[in-house]
Amino acid sequence: MSGNLIDGKAVAARLRADVGAAVSDLPVSPTLAVVLIGDDPASQVYVRSKIKFTKAAGMNSIERRLPANTSESDVIAIVRALNVDSDVDGILVQLPLPDHIDSDRVIAEIDPDKDVDGLTETSAGRLLLGQAGLRPCTPTGCVILAKDTLGDLSGKHCIIIGRSILVGKPAALLFLEQNCTVTVAHSRTDNLPALCRSADILVPAVGRPNMVKADWIKAGACVIDVGINRIADSARKSGTRLVGDVDFEDAEPVAGAITPVPGGVGPMTIACLLRNTVLAACARRGLDVPSSLAL
Ligand code: NAP
Repeated sequence: MSGNLIDGKAVAARLRADVGAAVSDLPVSPTLAVVLIGDDPASQVYVRSKIKFTKAAGMNSIERRLPANTSESDVIAIVRALNVDSDVDGILVQLPLPDHIDSDRVIAEIDPDKDVDGLTETSAGRLLLGQAGLRPCTPTGCVILAKDTLGDLSGKHCIIIGRSILVGKPAALLFLEQNCTVTVAHSRTDNLPALCRSADILVPAVGRPNMVKADWIKAGACVIDVGINRIADSARKSGTRLVGDVDFEDAEPVAGAITPVPGGVGPMTIACLLRNTVLAACARRGLDVPSSLAL
C-alpha cells in the first residue's frame, strides 16, 4: 500500500468498534429495522452485510422482507408500524424499490427521528438549517475520512463534483458545517479540470469511470472518490471490476492522500449507518451522544 492511501476499510472498522463500545455503555441496545422488498441481488448483499454489522456492534436487527409484488400501501403500512414501535430506533428502506412503488412516498413516511439513512425531507431540512438530526451516511463517511486524514478542515477549499440529493448536496452542506469553503460542480460546470486544481479536498460523486485525471488534482490534495463503477476487465474471472470516478493509477502520484475503489468510501457507508442508529437511539431515549461518535 502506498503511504498516501486512505484506508477506508480500516477507518470504517475503527468506527464500527467505536459504535460497539458506545452500545455496550448504553442502558438499552439500539434496534435497526431493515425493510427489503423484492429480490434484487445487490440489495440482498447490502442488507445481509448491514444486518451482520448491526449484530456485530451489539445492536438488534429486525428484518421485514417482502416479495417484489408487495403493494406500495403495504410497504407504507410496514413503515408506519415501525414508526410507532417504541423498541425500534432506526428504519432503513433498502433502495431501489420495485418500479411500481414510489420510493419518495415511502421515504416520506419514515419518522425523521428514526431516519438513519437521512433521506427524509425533514432530515434534509435539519441539515440545511444546521439543526440536530440524522445525516446521510455516504457523505458523512466522506467527511470522516477527510477529517481522519487532514484533521481540522477549516478554510480548506472542498470541491464536490455532483449535486445529487443522495451524495453531492448533503456532502456540500456537511463540508460547509466543517468550515470548508465549498464549491459544487456538475455536468454544466465550465472548465472542470482547472476548477478542480484549486481544491484542497476533491470529492467526485459522478458515476463516470476514471473521469478525474492527474492534471485535475492540485499537488498534495486530499481526494475522496465516491464513484463506484463496474467496468469490463477480461483479466478478471468475473470479466469486470470496480473503479471509481478518479483514474487512480494516474492521480495517485499527485494526490497527498487518496481513497481506493473499492475499499475507500464504500465501507464507511455501513459504519455511518450503525453510527446513525446509535445517534437515533440516544436522541429518542434522551441519552448523551458518546463523544467517540461526534463528528
Ligand atoms: P447521480 O444521482 O447520477 O448524480 C451524478 C452527478 O454527477 C450529477 O449531479 C451530475 O450533474 C454529475 N455529473 C454527471 N456527469 C458529469 C460530468 N461529465 N462532469 C461533472 N459532473 C457530472 O449519482 P449519485 O447517486 O450521486 O452517485 C454518484 C456516484 O457515487 C455513483 O458512482 C454511485 O455509484 C456512487 N455512490 C457510492 C456510494 C458509496 O457508498 N460509496 C453511495 C452512493 C453513491 P447534473 O446534476 O448536472 O446532471
